[in-house]
Amino acid sequence: MLPGVPRLDDLEPALLELEREGLLRHPDRALLGSRSDVLLACSNDYLGLGARHVSRETPPEARIGAGASRLIHGTHPEHVWLETALAEWVAQPAALLFSSGYAANVGAIAALADRNDLIVSDRLNHASLVDGCRLSRATLAVTEHADTDAIARELAQAPNYRARWVVVESYYSMDGDSPDLPRLRELCDKHHAHLYVDEAHALGVFGPGGSGLCRAQNITPDVLVGTLGKAVGVAGAFVAGSEPLRRWLWNRARSFVFSTGLSPLLAEILLRQVHATRNASEARSRLRQNVDSLRAELAAHGIRPPPGNHGPILPILVGDSARTLRVAERMLSENIVVQAIRPPTVPKGTGRLRVTVTAEMTAEHTQRIAGALATALAAEQAL
Ligand code: PMP
Repeated sequence: MLPGVPRLDDLEPALLELEREGLLRHPDRALLGSRSDVLLACSNDYLGLGARHVSRETPPEARIGAGASRLIHGTHPEHVWLETALAEWVAQPAALLFSSGYAANVGAIAALADRNDLIVSDRLNHASLVDGCRLSRATLAVTEHADTDAIARELAQAPNYRARWVVVESYYSMDGDSPDLPRLRELCDKHHAHLYVDEAHALGVFGPGGSGLCRAQNITPDVLVGTLGKAVGVAGAFVAGSEPLRRWLWNRARSFVFSTGLSPLLAEILLRQVHATRNASEARSRLRQNVDSLRAELAAHGIRPPPGNHGPILPILVGDSARTLRVAERMLSENIVVQAIRPPTVPKGTGRLRVTVTAEMTAEHTQRIAGALATALAAEQAL
């Protein structure tokens, strides 16, 4: 019998069963496709265009296209090097690349949880986490944002599920705040639940070498997701965790299995970017300084982001959507682009301006932003 979705602690026996049935795909074998001494009769690179190498002054060595999905010999050394570097960065035993964060969350959650499970999910979780939960068909308990007590109650009163999951982001993209990760780890241990943490907006920004908030707070989630299109500056994503977790996702995460492997050239560029991100401590400290400056300047104008907010994402709550838009328009007339965030991205009545700080900003920039925001909010009577 084919295994359904096993419990996270039972991945090894489930993988053995796949092997007995002749259904296991093993990551080690997939590199065959990148060898020049084999005749590849399984490629989708019908015109051979993906096998080209880009030449520049310092030419990357990697070929352009993976040629097929990762498990149909679309794995190239650059993928494996990058996955090894990513796992090491976030201090997890293994990592698996996905083409995007959306694909990572949708694929991983649906491959790990099923209708016998309970997923406790923060109300503000990103759409990709929400869609992964829905696809898994698990029972969903949606808790108020960053409400650890509510998560504790859900876990305590749900003993009859096969597995329990807590799914959170480490740094929320629309609120710039964080859950109490150490307490969540404790709660999950106490209730034998699994902790799934999406570090999309924290990776590169927080923690030693930008390794994220889990490492910064010394906690190890069971599943960690990182994206490579934000602070790392390119595109793509990864899921990190145990070696059996990697092998299970390799076999069962549908957005991985049924999708062309990431471009090896992109993987090579990403490997360089990951090194650059790890070494970007100067940029990280400039970022911290700029965040402090903007916060101080906003406070001087009487503008305060909501309690719990920290880091480079500063939400300025306005409420009404039309008014939020008008504030953003007024900012634009001062040549400053801020995003007006409205439903369905955020709950109804919580329209806001999402100001993000970067390391590239100067003191003049942060002053201009704070000044223009104060004027625009006052003009819309939203201050
Ligand atoms: N998770 C979170 C928390 C995100 O904010 C995002 C991007 N907005 C994603 C996943 C999706 O990542 P990607 O853009 O790589 O698909």
